Amino acid sequence: MAESGQETLANLLTETRAFPPNADIATQANVTKAAYQEASEDRVGFWETQAKRLHWETEWEQALDWSNPPFAKWFVGGKLNVAYNCLDRHVEAGNGDRVALHWEGEPGDSRDVTYSQLLTEVKQAANTLTDLGIEAGDRVVIYMPMIPEAAVAMLACARIGAIHSVVFGGFSVDALAGRIDDAGAKLVITADGGYRRGKPSGLKDTVDAAVERCSSIEKVLVVRRTEQEVAWGDKDLWWHETVAQASAHHEAEAFDAEHPLFILYTSGTTGRPKGILHTGGGYLTQTSYTFHSVFDHKADDVYWCTADIGWVTGHSYIVYGPMSNGATQVMYEGTPDTPHKGRFWEIVQKHKVSLLYTAPTAIRTFMKWGDDIPAEYDLSSLRILGSVGEPINPEAWMWYREHIGGNRAPIVDTWWQTETGGIMISPLPGVTATKPGSAQTPFPGIAVDVVDESGKSVGNGEGGLLVVREPWPSMLRTIWGDDERYIETYWSRFGHMYFPGDGAKRDEQGDIWLLGRVDDVMLVSGHNISTTEVESALVSHPSVAEAAVVGASDPITGQGIVAFVIVRGGVESSEEHLAQLRTHVATTLGAIAKPRQIMVVPELPKTRSGKIMRRLLRDVAEKRELGDVTTLQDSAVMNLIKDGLDNKS
Ligand code: ATP
Ligand code: MG
Repeated sequence: MAESGQETLANLLTETRAFPPNADIATQANVTKAAYQEASEDRVGFWETQAKRLHWETEWEQALDWSNPPFAKWFVGGKLNVAYNCLDRHVEAGNGDRVALHWEGEPGDSRDVTYSQLLTEVKQAANTLTDLGIEAGDRVVIYMPMIPEAAVAMLACARIGAIHSVVFGGFSVDALAGRIDDAGAKLVITADGGYRRGKPSGLKDTVDAAVERCSSIEKVLVVRRTEQEVAWGDKDLWWHETVAQASAHHEAEAFDAEHPLFILYTSGTTGRPKGILHTGGGYLTQTSYTFHSVFDHKADDVYWCTADIGWVTGHSYIVYGPMSNGATQVMYEGTPDTPHKGRFWEIVQKHKVSLLYTAPTAIRTFMKWGDDIPAEYDLSSLRILGSVGEPINPEAWMWYREHIGGNRAPIVDTWWQTETGGIMISPLPGVTATKPGSAQTPFPGIAVDVVDESGKSVGNGEGGLLVVREPWPSMLRTIWGDDERYIETYWSRFGHMYFPGDGAKRDEQGDIWLLGRVDDVMLVSGHNISTTEVESALVSHPSVAEAAVVGASDPITGQGIVAFVIVRGGVESSEEHLAQLRTHVATTLGAIAKPRQIMVVPELPKTRSGKIMRRLLRDVAEKRELGDVTTLQDSAVMNLIKDGLDNKS
């Protein structure tokens, strides 16, 4: 939004559909409307009440210390053990036989792990880490496939106060080495490999190449998963020869609430990833309570979050949130189309999944594959559907509701970030009348607002910048090793308010709609136009499966809107079709939003967590060298797009 004089975002899209809360859920909901009232009367006190859902070895003396902003301290003086809260206390309460993980391997192998089994393994792993010289505060990099040992490794670190840094198992040697160096890690926990798209894919070889460059690494602990051939050196130890042989006795020591829990790098959608630091007490309080309320979790629910453990969603809503609530969940190793495109729905049917949490990128893919695939499975167990990661287009939301949720299960569109640690904006399933495409309501006790450039709240029906006005328990504490970058990135724009970098608007009822990243906003004839609204308009055309738009510099209008679309299966695109699409956007949103150019592409560039990387498309549209591509999922995609365009021009 650089050169703009007026920085409010245009509000072009009108969406009038709304769905009242499902009565069955509303009458028994864990959290009711009263929570909003309670939190607005005493925000910090509200979070203290939620913190008491956890086991504290020592109670805190001060709930929030905000005397040195933007460096927050929550539950000052309190001590707890995060792993104890996720495991021991459920076993001590007599729930040790409850299944923690229904694990599904990609090749079809499966394993159930109970809370007592998980606790035993975590104790053994904790003893092994201590034997290897890992102490509280040391950094451990975890580079693993989606197997139970990944969660064990994280919880073992948490148990002994070591700081884990999970690196997504698809990242390259460069990305892994960079993250090891940045954290100064002593140990890597990995596996020989994992299964992906029907084939074993190596992890240990990548670790070997990275460790060769990183002098801080003393040992590499390796889980055997695929049994593929691996090179072996003096730093290497097998998990089954160490952890599996270790003592299963381990007393969890309590750590300070502000003791670091983990470092996690952001997805890298907008540029170089940032090493986000989270601490134990506030983080666990918010992830635990948001899981309980946003998913209305009950003891007999079966929950499934399809994210990878390498992303924040996997940290907060596979490991810490669900496990601190003693949830039973599914963990799946592989891709949604292996060995067939109904794999997800087969898993939902097999385990009677009741709470499902996935991403818009997955939902759009399922739409592309066709309605008949989920229709073959019994999805009647589903009670609540979650979405996270990107704005969800209203058409994708409607498809999710109808074809997955049977027009019965409410959708919770949850907005949050690696930096926020836990959910910040979301409907509550027993309270909110949901609207397709909107995250709607700040979570109780979270001071989210939409403001104009000067920091003043916008009115209903107006767009602007999303901010958080007050500190929250699971907020990032800093960027690892770089307090200056922390201040500069999130606090320099307004000084006293956290700025996440996203645009948003309020509708006529005051509900919040996320409008995409401010870096991606397009400036057309003096108006700031959101990528999300134009993309949603394109996706609402029956021929379009997925769309990404960017502003490319234009001598007359400042920027012109250039759209990249993927058409639905069976659609033949032509000049006439593209003209129709342009008109469709103009009639939906107004002439100002009419794309200058629409290009049909086979794929869109995405991060490994599935988010569209518009900055690379902008580079293409403006015929520039591509920027940083290290977090790109598939580097061949950019060539496909560029080649396609060269042939047309
Ligand atoms: P980087 O900060 O390195 O560019 P990233 O922002 O993609 O990477 P994440 O922390 O994984 O890293 O993603 C958070 C971002 O995802 C949010 O700032 C927002 O742009 C987007 N997002 C997440 N959930 C939603 C949602 N429900 N609706 C709209 N946008 C969302
Ligand atoms: Mg970000």
